[in-house]
Amino acid sequence: MQLPDYHTHTERCGHASGRPADYVAAAQARGLTALGIADHLPVLPTPDPVLAMPIADLALYVTEVQELKTQFPGYVLLGIEADYRPHTIADVEDLVQSYPFDYVIGSVHHLGNWGLDDPRYLKEYESRDIDTVWVEYLELIGDAAESGLFTILGHVDLVKKFGYRPSRRLERELDRLARRIGRAGVVVEINTAGLHRPCREIYPALDLLVRLRELNVPITFGSDAHRPEEVGRDFDQALELALTAGYRQFAVLSPKPTGGRAELRSLPLPLAGL
Ligand code: ZN
Ligand code: FE
Ligand code: FE
Repeated sequence: MQLPDYHTHTERCGHASGRPADYVAAAQARGLTALGIADHLPVLPTPDPVLAMPIADLALYVTEVQELKTQFPGYVLLGIEADYRPHTIADVEDLVQSYPFDYVIGSVHHLGNWGLDDPRYLKEYESRDIDTVWVEYLELIGDAAESGLFTILGHVDLVKKFGYRPSRRLERELDRLARRIGRAGVVVEINTAGLHRPCREIYPALDLLVRLRELNVPITFGSDAHRPEEVGRDFDQALELALTAGYRQFAVLSPKPTGGRAELRSLPLPLAGL
C-alpha cells in the first residue's frame, strides 16, 4: 500500500504491545511509504499508567525513535499523540515543545474528567444526553484545531466509538466544525481503528469528510495500531473512503534534518492502490 501510517503506539503506553522497531519492520513488510510513531503523551494533570507512559519515560521514547530515524532516514518519523484538554493546554504545550517531534497528533479523549473512549467509563453514556455529548465533543475538536498546537487532528469523531449516535444529524455543528478546522489549517487523519470498534466505521465518517474536502482540508492516514500487526490495517478502505469523499491528494510529512515540525507536502492518492 503506497501510503504512510502516522498513527501508531508502542508498549510504553501501558495498553499496547511491541517496540518501535517492531512497528518499523511491520510497516516495511506491508510496503508502507513511511511510519510515524505517535505514542500517547502522558495525560495531564494526573498521568494514568494505563493510558500513557510516565513523564519520566518521555525522553527514553524520544531517544529510541530518534535512533530508528537515524537507521531509517526519511522513513521513520517521531510523533506524539497529545490530549486536548482545555485546563492542561499550557502544560501540554511545554511538554511538547521540550522535544523535537516531527509532528503532534491532537486528540480529544475527555469531556471534563470523563474519559469518553475509555471502556472503564462506558456506563457514563447511560446517564448523559447523547446529543449534548456529541455537541460538546465536536466543539472541543474545533478548539483543539484552533489551539495551533497540533499538526494533525486525531480521530475527529471518536465520540461515536461505542455506537452512541445523536438523535439528529448535527448538520449545523458539523458545518461549523469543518469551517473551524479549515480556517485553522490543520490536517485531519483518516483513522481506520474505528472499523474494529462498536461503531464499525472509519474516523471520520463520510459526511464529515466530504465537508472537510469541500474546504480543502488536507488528510493523512493512521491505523492507530496498538500492536505491530495492526500497522497499515484497512488502508484499502481508508483510501476508498478518501476517494469517495472526493479527495485526490493527501498530505505527507517531510521531516526537517534539523528536527522540529515536519513540512507538509501534497501527493496524489494512489488511485490504483486497491
Ligand atoms: Zn492508545
Ligand atoms: Fe487516540
Ligand atoms: Fe492513538
